[in-house]
Amino acid sequence: AKQRGKASFVRYTEGMGEPVLAHMQLGGELRRALDDGELRVVYQPILRLADHRVIGVEALVRWHHPTRGVISPAEFIPAAERTGLIVPLGRYVLRETCHQAAAWLAEYGPDALEEAGLNVSARQLHDPDFVADVTAALTDSGLPCRRLVLEVTESAVLRGQQVSRTLYELDRMGIRLALDDFGTGESSLSLLRAFPAAIVKLDKSFVDGIEIDDGRPAAADARQAVARAVVQLAHALGLDTVAEGVESAEQAAVLRDLGYTVGQGYHLARPMTAGEFGVLLDRQRSA
Ligand code: C2E
Ligand code: CA
Ligand code: CA
Ligand code: CA
Repeated sequence: AKQRGKASFVRYTEGMGEPVLAHMQLGGELRRALDDGELRVVYQPILRLADHRVIGVEALVRWHHPTRGVISPAEFIPAAERTGLIVPLGRYVLRETCHQAAAWLAEYGPDALEEAGLNVSARQLHDPDFVADVTAALTDSGLPCRRLVLEVTESAVLRGQQVSRTLYELDRMGIRLALDDFGTGESSLSLLRAFPAAIVKLDKSFVDGIEIDDGRPAAADARQAVARAVVQLAHALGLDTVAEGVESAEQAAVLRDLGYTVGQGYHLARPMTAGEFGVLLDRQRSA
């Protein structure tokens, strides 16, 4: 009977309970990974569509697991948010990105890179020490406030007064806020009035298929309608735009026709190490 009880418990955890168990293990392992330096930051260039000049960069975290290889953030950021580990993890990405950006500016000059961005999750915006962490990262690295972009999503922003106060305080410091994955939320439009965004990042889902001719005249092309509306609205409000997930030259061309000047995506450049990004800036300087 004992044996069978144990077996059914095992079956249960391997079945329904598995995702929960996996997340708990992941959460514990993440703490160790952070301490052991297994989390690394890669940088994806953000380019001007007209001439592919680098104007910015987005920091993206990777987990170099000793046995499982490189794990994508989509797999461990949710666990980090649930366990609260996103706060120290995010602080690490923040400090790393600020130091790296300051180093690039020192080496390649003030025109090499306009700004460096990173992702901030809801939990971080709720952390009472967040503004102090950002201030310390800027002071310690010497990166000017106006060079830092904090990317936030709609769900993170719509979290009440405390988060709103934090966002306004960051804006007052001169830090630029970007609305990430724009257009995917339920209240994207009212959001633009409700918080001090400087940049709108058009979600990849609106870039996918944008180059496909649906047979209608360009002005009526359904695939292009959202992308066009977003860029027009952004410009009317004085916001900058970035088109995300640009995977082909055809997409880049359509986006330019619609009014986008800046893009990010595999067609333009993949996420790369800090060293590789330095090579890119060096090549751009001597071009
Ligand atoms: P995101 O902020 O929307 O970042 C863009 C994601 O799209 C990145 O995935 C990037 O590698 C990928 N990407 C860029 N260009 C293309 C393209 O042309 N095609 C396709 N298919 N994908 C493209 P990644 O690095 O796996 O990150 C996934 C998400 O994880 C991010 O989405 C962000 O929400 C989150 N994340 C990554 N790093 C951090 C971090 O340091 N902190 C927090 N809180 N979240 C992070
Ligand atoms: Ca982002
Ligand atoms: Ca502002
Ligand atoms: Ca995004």
